[in-house]
Amino acid sequence: MEVKSHENWQDEIRTAFRDPLELAHHLGLPLDQLPPLPKNSDFPLLVPRGFADRMTKGDPCDPLLLQVWPHAAESNLEPFELADPVGDLKASLVPGLLQKYAQRALLVTSGACAVHCRYCFRQHFPYHDASPSQIHWQAQLDHLRQDLSLREVVLSGGDPLSLPDSVLASRIQELEGIAQLSTLRIHTRLPVVIPSRVTSDLRQILSESRFRIAVVIHANHPSEITPSVADALTKLHHASATVLNQSVLLAGVNDDADVLEQLSQALWQAGALPYYLHALDRVRGSARFAVPDQEAIRLVEILRSRLPGYLVPRLVREIEGARSKMPVG
Ligand SMILES: *Cc1c(COP(=O)(O)O)cnc(C)c1O
Ligand code: SF4
Repeated sequence: MEVKSHENWQDEIRTAFRDPLELAHHLGLPLDQLPPLPKNSDFPLLVPRGFADRMTKGDPCDPLLLQVWPHAAESNLEPFELADPVGDLKASLVPGLLQKYAQRALLVTSGACAVHCRYCFRQHFPYHDASPSQIHWQAQLDHLRQDLSLREVVLSGGDPLSLPDSVLASRIQELEGIAQLSTLRIHTRLPVVIPSRVTSDLRQILSESRFRIAVVIHANHPSEITPSVADALTKLHHASATVLNQSVLLAGVNDDADVLEQLSQALWQAGALPYYLHALDRVRGSARFAVPDQEAIRLVEILRSRLPGYLVPRLVREIEGARSKMPVG
């Protein structure tokens, strides 16, 4: 009998690698070839097997492995690295609801992610305080209803698609009751990490919604876009979502014009467009991924010389207190 897709994706989260030693063993890598692990971490390794399968066995510098392998440096604090680098705590309206920019508010829908990315700027965010309890959800809805300047609500996280389809459907339905909202945006890495998350139920929820829908995925390297990921993105596109990608520019992962060009091309083939290329936020313990601005600007100039304008991502940085993401360069 065919396994139902909703069972399938939840199984992939359940069976993900959580032990660095097991992942190293799976990749045929002795520990002494890998960066030293942190002594203790409040952000443990989490890598679904399907994502690990896209890594090259025996390569300690695999660009997908580098994104997820915990590093001893994460326990050293650089003076300029902040636990809340982009001012999320100050921008909270009610727990789990952030507004920094005109016309759009962001809901921290779920603390859970399907993969733990070592450079993630939300890894130190107190999700437990902002957990999507029913009380907070009602307060969030009340706030959204009262703000007539809003056009768009962004479901972010964590990963909003870690919620089951039934929960997602009822949240979206309640949001649809807020007349001034016309656009729903979903910030999610799940279609990339576990493409079976794009279930037929999810596609139906999206295609039947009254909202204009943008699904903003997150891929950093073309090896993340396997044929099943491309298929999942194409299905989202066919469910009338505009699919956009944001990447983080990461040393050793994608600080290379050929890699970024291939990523843009792979996205386009799957019906998705590059949106932002983020300069790294100064999150605690992530200095090893930093790329100098001059180099970032040079890479994007090369992309511009090779690709149509719609395949060149906007190079931006988030600056606390700014009224939009700020262009770099
Ligand atoms: C990044 C972000 C957005 C989205 O910004 P866009 O430039 O519209 O993509 C919205 N709200 C918050 C709080 C954000 O951090
Ligand atoms: S999936 Fe997104 S929110 Fe989750 S750890 Fe990765 S970058 Fe952070």
